[in-house]
Amino acid sequence: MPVRFRADLAALPSYAPGTMPPVEINLASNEVPAELPESVLKAINDAATSSGRYPDPSSSALVARLADRLDVDPHNVAVGCGSVTLCHDMVQATCTAGEAVLFPWVSFEAYPVIARIVGATPQAVPLAEDWSLDLPGMLAAVGPMTRIVFLCTPNNPTGAQPETAALREFLAAVPPSVLVILDEAYREFVVGNAPDGVALAREQWSQGRDNVAVLRTFSKAHGLAGLRLGYLIGPETVTATLGKVQVPFGVSSVAQAAALASLDAEDEVAERCRTIVRERERVRRLLGDAGHQVPPSQGNFLWLPFGDDSAQFAAHCRDSGIAVRAFGAAGVRVTIGTTAENDAFVAAARSYEQRPA
Ligand code: PMP
Repeated sequence: MPVRFRADLAALPSYAPGTMPPVEINLASNEVPAELPESVLKAINDAATSSGRYPDPSSSALVARLADRLDVDPHNVAVGCGSVTLCHDMVQATCTAGEAVLFPWVSFEAYPVIARIVGATPQAVPLAEDWSLDLPGMLAAVGPMTRIVFLCTPNNPTGAQPETAALREFLAAVPPSVLVILDEAYREFVVGNAPDGVALAREQWSQGRDNVAVLRTFSKAHGLAGLRLGYLIGPETVTATLGKVQVPFGVSSVAQAAALASLDAEDEVAERCRTIVRERERVRRLLGDAGHQVPPSQGNFLWLPFGDDSAQFAAHCRDSGIAVRAFGAAGVRVTIGTTAENDAFVAAARSYEQRPA
């Protein structure tokens, strides 16, 4: 007799990552193109020598450093094995079967998958017509079964970033029993007068509303995606509950050491982000000149709303040796890579002939 797995998992597809090797240029996974600083590589090598020992289970040195940088108490910070794992842990901590996880759509593809893994109900709220978050629509969708809301700011894959006032209004209006997670995976690529999730969260906590937390990651700006390290900034009730559901020793000693070294190398990290932002704006301009509609983006990626032509455009890029990420019949996300990679993508986009309507 075969093993009896949970019946509801039969219809659940596995999470499909963006890369489909072999491909010459991978612009499908929102990774950063730069080499790691020497100091970070050295920290990784040094930490690897003690791999026979378990890591510090609470990553205390890293937590203390992050708390100091963010001007919060160490009890307000928790680290995990990538921020996607922290998303999973927070859904696990808030939802029992049949309760709901609310998120915008299109957005980070893991939100609905995680909801279903846990047996919760995914509640997707469409983006506004300009691909931005529909905050009033999301607020209206919060129902009696909603336990957790993910807001991806800036939104992956569309790059939209809400205004501070609108976000503040949203946070103040969500029932305090519903946890709101501001997923700021791309925070370091935001320029201009954009909201700082941690400042907004602290504002809510100071008003006695302990239902707002922020997620950040070392996978993007810090270029440590392969080491798997994300962190959550939240009220102590949230971090303490997270500690109950986290798998022990989830963050390796190599990842902890690399993250500390990368925080020490903040000038290099900031310079890398500035380069990516410059490239993002250059590529957007060139795509616009070539007749493509590309909304402004605050991430390390751009969104091309090709609609029904999305798969065809992605296939055209593949034929040019470039992997990009198609999101159903909504659009295509392209990660900002090196200048040469970006030029190759722009050339592919220029040579694309859209199907006649
Ligand atoms: N949140 C968002 C919005 C993302 O796009 C991603 C990765 N693509 C993650 C979280 C997860 O990042 P990681 O697990 O590598 O920290």
